[in-house]
Amino acid sequence: MRITRRTLLLGAGAGVASVLLASCTPEPAPTPTPTRTREPEPPPGVPAPAASIRSTWTSDPFALGAASFTPVGVLGATRTALARPIDDRLFFAGEATDEDAPGTVRGAISSGTRAAEELMGPGVPGERVAVVGAGLSGATAAALLAARGMQVTVFEARDRVGGRVFSRVDDAWPVPVQLGAWLFGEDDADVLDRLTSGEVGILDLAGELWRTPDGDIDPVDPKPFTAALTAAQAAPEDSSVADALTTAGIDPADPGTAALLAILAARTGADADELSSWFAPPLPTGDPRAAGDSLTPFVEHALDGVQVGLSSPVARVAYDDTGVSVRLGTGEALSFDRVVVTVPLGVLQERSIEFDPPLPFANRGAISALGMGAIETVWLRWDEPFWGSEESIWHAVGGHVMIPTWINLRPATGENVLVGIVGGASAAAFAELDEDAALDAALASLSIYV
Ligand SMILES: Cc1cc2nc3c(=O)[nH]c(=O)nc-3n(C[C@H](O)[C@H](O)[C@H](O)COP(=O)(O)OP(=O)(O)OC[C@H]3O[C@@H](n4cnc5c(N)ncnc54)[C@H](O)[C@@H]3O)c2cc1C
Repeated sequence: MRITRRTLLLGAGAGVASVLLASCTPEPAPTPTPTRTREPEPPPGVPAPAASIRSTWTSDPFALGAASFTPVGVLGATRTALARPIDDRLFFAGEATDEDAPGTVRGAISSGTRAAEELMGPGVPGERVAVVGAGLSGATAAALLAARGMQVTVFEARDRVGGRVFSRVDDAWPVPVQLGAWLFGEDDADVLDRLTSGEVGILDLAGELWRTPDGDIDPVDPKPFTAALTAAQAAPEDSSVADALTTAGIDPADPGTAALLAILAARTGADADELSSWFAPPLPTGDPRAAGDSLTPFVEHALDGVQVGLSSPVARVAYDDTGVSVRLGTGEALSFDRVVVTVPLGVLQERSIEFDPPLPFANRGAISALGMGAIETVWLRWDEPFWGSEESIWHAVGGHVMIPTWINLRPATGENVLVGIVGGASAAAFAELDEDAALDAALASLSIYV
């Protein structure tokens, strides 16, 4: 059943008044920037789009980045330290706590399942449990805990659920605009199963185009790149991905290698000089698949029947032997038996939530050791296509473009929509541009595809 925000809020029980009152807190600047109206100065051959919209996760106060990554010299097991429960009162979920698939939807869902299981160890049905954050990890934990008989209240800072899953449905767009996660690879079969059983249509993004300023080239062979990382993973000490490549005699600045690194940056949010070679995810293989429908009903469905307070940022979590006090941005405090904290790593690093007493060294050490990467996306729509390619995934090789990776939705949907994805320092720089400059940078990045 598709539930609406109204039913979510009406589903609240005693203490609802507090939750609803809290929803009057002022809303910070939203993540997406609106569809622009200015006529840009398009580079020759790239006409002005009919609509455009972009993300700014890097500066979003409730994300402060896109995805966690493992920096050079940091162990993947640091994520287990981040996830470590405290005094059977505080539990942690969120993609950053998942050692197997950090920075992904898969990791977020799996972390929510793990945290709920951990809580049910000491927890007793009927207890009051707070879940901080209504992203996929929080929704997964909340659903499982509610199913096990807990009285669950979810506090979400935004005026919507989903967190870094954010589908915008808008009259200006013939397809839902996915400003967060929407792409899935070969390891995501379980997630795709869940999505399809939640009636989310899946698109096959078939075919790759590799384009230099001088024309099309054969796909860049990833084998030397992958072999360099495999060799680095056998070394006695961790090194950055950039150093691993250099050690193997590969120049990270070579245009083909830089194109592969751009794919890695768009996946991890990190550049080659900061990313651990031991814990770097492999380059994607096979055609990616994508959510073709809005993902919002999928998240809402998970929260069906759970009490959710939207626009309710948590400012402080105090805990002792007897329970947990959760204080909202309004100053209102509510008591619970246990809490699951699912906010993004960037929010923990910014110390937007005060913990009293402070978190143990192990948890704090993990928060400061892990990295929060930058990924941004820009969606552009034209009435008529200016391109002839029938390939779905485009890679720029050379040409110094700001946004090197594009998804052409025309083959899968028939719509003239191109989606740019950029990660690492370029993403952070893109997020800082004003609207006009961002659109100009996006169109300039497309000029080699004309
Ligand atoms: C641009 C982009 C593209 C991506 N692409 C993909 C992809 O294609 N495939 C993929 O698998 N993954 C992708 N990811 C990663 C994926 O989106 C995340 O790993 C996943 O959604 C994280 O879920 P989560 O529940 O851990 O965190 P979130 O979804 O961030 O949920 C945490 C929630 O906590 C809330 N919150 C923050 N502070 C507070 C507070 N003080 N009080 C209360 N609530 C608070 C937030 O608003 C948020 O709703 C992408 C991410 C981005 C940004």
